[in-house]
Amino acid sequence: MRATLTALMPDDNKATETTVHGIAALQGIAYGQVFVYIQSDVAVPSYQVEPEKFVDEVARFDQALLVTRQQIAKIQDEVKKNLGADEALIFDAHLLVLEDQALIGETIRSLETTRRNIETCFNEVSSRYIQAFSEIDDEYLRERAGDIRDVAQRVLQNLLGQAENSLSRLADKRIVVANDISPSDSASIDRSAALAIVTDSGSKTSHAVIVARSMKVPAVVGVRDLTKRIKNGDWVIVDGYDGVVILNPSESTLFRYGKIREEKESFESRLIQANHEPAITRDGVAVTLMANIERVDEVHTAKEYRAEGVGLYRTEYLFLSSSRVPSEQEQFVAYKTVAEGMAPQPVIIRTLDLGGDKPMAGNPDLFPKENNPFMGFRAIRFCLENRDIFKDQLRAILMASAYGKVRLMFPMISGHEELARANAVLDECKAELRERGQHFDESMAVGAMIEIPSAAATIDLLAPGTGFFSIGTNDLIQYTLAIDRVNERIAHLYEPTHPAILRTLKHILDEAHKHHIPVSVCGEMAGDPIFAPLLLGLGADSLSMSPTWIPSVKYLVRAMTMADAKALAAEALTMSSPKEIYAKCDAFYRSRMGPE
Ligand code: PEP
Ligand code: MG
Repeated sequence: MRATLTALMPDDNKATETTVHGIAALQGIAYGQVFVYIQSDVAVPSYQVEPEKFVDEVARFDQALLVTRQQIAKIQDEVKKNLGADEALIFDAHLLVLEDQALIGETIRSLETTRRNIETCFNEVSSRYIQAFSEIDDEYLRERAGDIRDVAQRVLQNLLGQAENSLSRLADKRIVVANDISPSDSASIDRSAALAIVTDSGSKTSHAVIVARSMKVPAVVGVRDLTKRIKNGDWVIVDGYDGVVILNPSESTLFRYGKIREEKESFESRLIQANHEPAITRDGVAVTLMANIERVDEVHTAKEYRAEGVGLYRTEYLFLSSSRVPSEQEQFVAYKTVAEGMAPQPVIIRTLDLGGDKPMAGNPDLFPKENNPFMGFRAIRFCLENRDIFKDQLRAILMASAYGKVRLMFPMISGHEELARANAVLDECKAELRERGQHFDESMAVGAMIEIPSAAATIDLLAPGTGFFSIGTNDLIQYTLAIDRVNERIAHLYEPTHPAILRTLKHILDEAHKHHIPVSVCGEMAGDPIFAPLLLGLGADSLSMSPTWIPSVKYLVRAMTMADAKALAAEALTMSSPKEIYAKCDAFYRSRMGPE
């Protein structure tokens, strides 16, 4: 491995090694030369146009809009083919920009009043729109500014007869370092030549990451200003495990990374091989490992990683990919596809959990701005107030239940009366479907997420109204410890091993089991092999996690005994320091996983 990395190093690599940090978005290590891609605005010449030429200018504009539409439709087709229908939805927003009568009308009016060429008019009008959108407080709407900018640049390129961006023709294998990667950039990227993707901006869910995931290359995002510190041809290591980029690595760093890559690859292949085996502990206890999914096409990933069903299907992502509320029929098609795709394994479809960090775009009436959205009009609270939307979804889930083993789960339940109200709406939907003569699974299990402390404290009251519980540790920790789960500044206080969390988990599990109700855990804790034994030792009946985490959790399950996991949980419950409890869990993990 040393040979592989160092042999690539140029002889004149004398520049100083520098390490920069970003967000680890996709695992893997890459080494190579950089291609710097700066998304820059097209330079627009400005000149006077005589009134008798206005018709020609408008005709040029129409033609550019038409060509842009054709280009975007083509990109959308390619993305659908390569990444799936959900990823292609973003281009619907782009096509809508091209049909926006206000934008087109204002451009033509500007031509008539300012008598300047159509490029200048369009540039000015679209810039105003971009500015207005980028100042909106709502993060999702702010991102629409990016859509308009992307489309406007394409229209200007077409008006000026310029070629497409350079990402589509990388000269050789390169690490793409970009200030940002727009949806249409990402669709045209030279997939066979990109070794890794690094961006100045972005988060784990940005487009650049979606593309990198489909290309199976490492990605580090949010490396502020990297494009200003690097030039084409520089040599870098991209470490997608730790979110690090090393510029001009020295020979000893290359050697170290050569070893890290070798170890990670052999460890991962060990995990993948062992993933074919059943999840049974050394003392013979079978553990159910399920998948959390957000999109229909993730059924393939869930199956690839041998999930024993979908333990959490976050349906709100169907609503977040468009500003329009999907119809009952559209939802039915999505849910049926997942149910059929996973059958005979179960699929737990969670009803809408919009709001909080997941507001729906373009619907300020449905989602008015709130000062404290995590404590606000979210999930079941939204659904019970918007019964038409809720009932469309419930009927769609019920209809899909005729095509597989579907279970329905309500999020953010805070108490038994709220659960009773949700169940009553479900009963209404069942009656309506019976009236329509529509088949559904009359015995479909219905469960509740336990992610609010008030629900945890009243499990005994919730038990009669439910068939199963699933613990959402992400929210349960945030609400129990009063730590905003997405606030970087207090991230260090977000402690899954806090005694308050352990005691709450124990209470939920013991109470539910007294009432013979099975309990799964579907928050991030379940997919972390450091915490999985603790959860199982406390009594969790199953774990649901991002499908790619299944191999490492399964490996650990197979390497431990349930008796040891129970002893770990029992001891952790007697301890008071979150850090010490964490260290215990970590030691448990390390002693059974072997060297990474
Ligand atoms: C959770 O809160 O743990 C959970 C699984 O739900 P989400 O992350 O979608 O809020
Ligand atoms: Mg939650």
